[in-house]
Amino acid sequence: MITTTNDRRVVSLLQTIAGFFKGPSGPKCSECSSTIIGDVCPNLDCPLKVTEWLLRWCSPEAVNIPALGQAEAEHLAGLRLVLHPGELYELGQGDWDRLDGVSAGQLAEIHSQIEDSKSAKPGALLHGLRLPGVSGDLAKRLVNEFGSIDALRDAKPKSLQEIDGVDESLAFGVRRWFRDSINRQALKKLEQNGFSFNA
Ligand SMILES: [Zn+2]
Repeated sequence: MITTTNDRRVVSLLQTIAGFFKGPSGPKCSECSSTIIGDVCPNLDCPLKVTEWLLRWCSPEAVNIPALGQAEAEHLAGLRLVLHPGELYELGQGDWDRLDGVSAGQLAEIHSQIEDSKSAKPGALLHGLRLPGVSGDLAKRLVNEFGSIDALRDAKPKSLQEIDGVDESLAFGVRRWFRDSINRQALKKLEQNGFSFNA
């Protein structure tokens, strides 16, 4: 005969097994339902993440493309037309035409601001790249200290930690950012489209 305690044990065991097959638990991303890891959605092409990155990239503190706002960023990300800011510079007319509710005048403005954005200062550029924990102020100081984004990419975590406000976890986060394949692809595309990271 099965006792109540045994029943509970069986139920608890079944729940453990079910939990194992469900994958990691925890808060889910509101956009793509991936389980959030350390405050970040791990999904590389999560539209929410791409939208946030585009908005940071276009902000006045970064490369300044104010004509491209929240609605346009959400559209570009939602249609999977853009995975990272580098792809913004490779969109064709047919891609832009897929954005509903954007007038010809606004589109012309976006195009002209995109062209102007290529002359953004390295500190602003770095802010736009959205490295974890790197504020606008820290981005400027890092570029001043290392001289270029290329030099920052090659910097050892130890030398990064000599900068005021950079602890070990931030230093390793910066290193990880530069090693990530999507981020490397973003830098490559940006370079191919007229951005310079070595000055
Ligand atoms: Zn997500």
